Amino acid sequence: MNKNIKDSTKFPVHGLDREGPRIPYTGSLLDRADRNREDAHWLESHRHHPDTRYLPFWDLGVAMCRNPDPELYWCRGRDLSDGLAIEDTAVFLGISDDGVACFATLIDEATQRKLEVQNVGFVDARSAAAQLEDGRAAIVAQARSLLNWHSQNPFCTRCGSRTSPQMAGSQRACTDTDCGVVIFPRIDPVVIMLVVSADGEHCLLGRNPGYPGRLVSALAGYMEPGESIEEAVRRELLEEAGVSVKAVRYFTSQPWPFPATLMIGCFAMAEDLELDVNLQELEWAQWFSKKEVEALFADQNEEFSAPRSIAIAHHLIKHWLKHS
Ligand SMILES: [Zn+2]
Repeated sequence: MNKNIKDSTKFPVHGLDREGPRIPYTGSLLDRADRNREDAHWLESHRHHPDTRYLPFWDLGVAMCRNPDPELYWCRGRDLSDGLAIEDTAVFLGISDDGVACFATLIDEATQRKLEVQNVGFVDARSAAAQLEDGRAAIVAQARSLLNWHSQNPFCTRCGSRTSPQMAGSQRACTDTDCGVVIFPRIDPVVIMLVVSADGEHCLLGRNPGYPGRLVSALAGYMEPGESIEEAVRRELLEEAGVSVKAVRYFTSQPWPFPATLMIGCFAMAEDLELDVNLQELEWAQWFSKKEVEALFADQNEEFSAPRSIAIAHHLIKHWLKHS
């Protein structure tokens, strides 16, 4: 065993909290106010309140003003009477810091055309995250995942009857009274881990066949049923790169609304530098020194490029560079 494995000072064990850089799609500005979801009277009165805000989505693109400064376009309840149709798919997102109830909703094509004329565009969630700061992208992530889940689950998986939204859109229930099964929004956990050499000087990066351009990143994989986060990290690394790891440390997580993934970022300390890359899973993987990784972030490598700041991998790798 390498003696350096015991040297935990070389291992970035400190995760991100409120003091760290903001990971895109986290830090929502809304109070989810789950206590209000059960209050049918409260919900009904706020659905029709003139101040209530609706965030329209068209083809899962979010409405944004085409102003010099990018901003979400919120439609007020009072505007709905002006021929703007809001479908009954509206889901409750939460309450803003000025006390206003906020919903997201799909809109019909006629409404989309009316809004386009008013200089409102519909932007995919990746572009929205690149343009929005201070937690507004988290609202887009919440809304997109929730609206997509509703549209994908019109029928009961137990009996085949129709399902309908309940609790302000936070769940659906089978309409067959003999069945009555309740289903909850799906979240798919993925572990993404930066493997670090025992001496802290190298990290493991690789390419999936589907990666765009010159991108290299930390390895990742879906968790399986009955598996802990640490077990998923160890299994994926063995499967994909033939790497055995000692310590596994949680770093931070990120909602990834395509459609409803939860990225769970970890660091893992390699037992040694041996690799046995599974070419069914990866194009390749290799160790990069700190200098090589710094060159990636400086875009000084003609062959490879680093993950962009929208991705949790970017923050994992930068954290290692800074703290190991
Ligand atoms: Zn059913």
